Amino acid sequence: MSRVLIIGCGGVAQVAIRKCCQASEVFEEICIASRTKKKCDDLAEKLKGKTATKITTAQVDADDSAQVEALIRAYKPDLVMNIALPYQDLAIMDACLSCGVNYMDTANYEPENTEDPAWRAIYEKRCREEGFSAYFDYSWQWAYREKFEKAGLTALLGCGFDPGVTQAYCAYARKHEFDSIKTIDILDCNGGDHGYKFATNFNPEVNLREVSAPGSYWENGHWVEVPAMSIKRVYDFDQVGQKDMYLLHHEEIESLAKTIPGVERIRFFMTFGESYLTHMRCLEDVGMLSTAPIMYEGCEIVPIQFLKALLPDPASLGPRTKGKTNIGCIFTGLKDGKEKTYYIYNVCDHEECYREVESQAISYTTGVPAMCGALMLLTKKWDKKGVYTVDELDPDPFLEALETYGLPKKESYCPELVD
Ligand code: NDP
Repeated sequence: MSRVLIIGCGGVAQVAIRKCCQASEVFEEICIASRTKKKCDDLAEKLKGKTATKITTAQVDADDSAQVEALIRAYKPDLVMNIALPYQDLAIMDACLSCGVNYMDTANYEPENTEDPAWRAIYEKRCREEGFSAYFDYSWQWAYREKFEKAGLTALLGCGFDPGVTQAYCAYARKHEFDSIKTIDILDCNGGDHGYKFATNFNPEVNLREVSAPGSYWENGHWVEVPAMSIKRVYDFDQVGQKDMYLLHHEEIESLAKTIPGVERIRFFMTFGESYLTHMRCLEDVGMLSTAPIMYEGCEIVPIQFLKALLPDPASLGPRTKGKTNIGCIFTGLKDGKEKTYYIYNVCDHEECYREVESQAISYTTGVPAMCGALMLLTKKWDKKGVYTVDELDPDPFLEALETYGLPKKESYCPELVD
């Protein structure tokens, strides 16, 4: 029986909240708090009479640690689920530390303003020393390890699908399928169609930043960085069919390079259609993906935020999206002295998700793991003090929970390999 404060009420949070309400025996009380309180109130109204979970709502600007702290002190939750944006991660972690409460999120920290000189100096040093130039990385949150450990608290980072479930798949492969893992390819396929020429399936600003950044992969102990979208492969996905996929930098590579001993190569591929890529390139060429504020007729605007206001809200794609997602990991390695390949993945149907929780599968495949991660912390199946990514925790109870709450795994021992 627990009390949980959920920050954010966008596409992913709405799924996580609905799923928490399916497990009222654990999520006895939740407070939904976001920048726009109306979204929280509207969802609470929809759920009225349909769950035993007691729901309250609040307004909070989570960029302001003091506001989060005041809310935590008033509500006294056992756990804070940050399902707002990665920009708020550090402010919310600070508030949790100061109030003595466990923390979790679905994406690692990145700053809202990447032109901030203080942040940029650290970022440029990291690019030189580490060898990849994505705006997001774990170093900011890993720096809280000792503080959380000393406070006897847990912070669970990036508990969505990728990162999140993909790291649990790696921990599972390591625990049950291999003596040593040689290569990991993470494949994220969205075979869904929403009928728009251009829309993003989760927060447009975060999504477009991720996709337009240089790609990188881990090989023989170091990063190899390549221009954005320069490595393309075609893959035949179970229940989706053939899709073009492109190599991206992704945060779980950073943690897996540390937690999978002796791994020789880790890559991440995501599928994109030609229309998406053409629109993205044009928008980038005209400066619409820039995070640097500009003055327009006396008003300061950030181009990518203005673009976000023009694009469809990802939460509105649910009723129009058809097709399936297929996300998982392909491994090669050794078991009992023999070479082995193994593919573990999930297939999720956009329309089925909509029927269940009024959302498309991208928000579903992120919101369900967020709820299952919270379940692991609240039931103490995961009870390590400090700051952890999912690959550092026991995958078995988490994969069982995913099975129960809508994301069952599929396995293959002779998958097509990616060259
Ligand atoms: P949305 O943009 O749909 O929702 C974000 C929510 O956060 C909105 O309710 C927004 O409020 C709220 N918010 C934004 N800023 C603040 C603030 N300063 N204070 C309080 N609330 C705020 O995003 P998504 O639901 O698509 O994504 C949520 C998170 O999930 C993101 O961090 C994203 O990166 C992550 N994600 C992770 C994935 C994974 O597999 N690990 C996959 C997909 C997403 P308002 O309504 O006022 O805008």
